[in-house]
Amino acid sequence: MDFVEYERVRRAFPHDAPCEAWTQDDGDRDLFFMTRALEEAALAAEECETPIGAALVCQNRVIARNHNRREQLCDPTAHAETLVLREAALFYPSWRVEDAELYVTLEPCLMCAGAILQARVNRVVIGTLDPKAGAVRSLYRALEDSRLNWNVAVQDGVLQEECAQLLVDFFKARRERASKT
Ligand SMILES: [Zn+2]
Repeated sequence: MDFVEYERVRRAFPHDAPCEAWTQDDGDRDLFFMTRALEEAALAAEECETPIGAALVCQNRVIARNHNRREQLCDPTAHAETLVLREAALFYPSWRVEDAELYVTLEPCLMCAGAILQARVNRVVIGTLDPKAGAVRSLYRALEDSRLNWNVAVQDGVLQEECAQLLVDFFKARRERASKT
């Protein structure tokens, strides 16, 4: 797939749902936005992608949401986090996504932590930690390294059980399918 084709496929995916805004009446703000990320993770599972979802929030509304599309795009970098950052950058006047908060169901990997720093995201909210590859709390604390010129506020454990359960169910079903073949 050449780059032009890649862009065509990638841009065909953005959601045309109305932007989802949070107000006081919606209750807990982090739960509200993590639920949006969780909806994306569930969509990923339906598409046989590892169920990880992300929502990028600016001024109390979702400006981009997406899920892991590594298989569909045949792209090792097509993680939910990088996709929402790229999507948001299409609408922003620069490559920075200032005043943004990223909600993601699984702790970001090293690549995504790098992308989050490059995009100057202010805050990252994580569903469940990833002891094998997490670069925010588990293996590294890349977003809170004082040697870097940008630090990100981090919150984890929001809807932790729900985010983890989707992954557990997905891999269990995949193992069962594999054992039957
Ligand atoms: Zn990643």
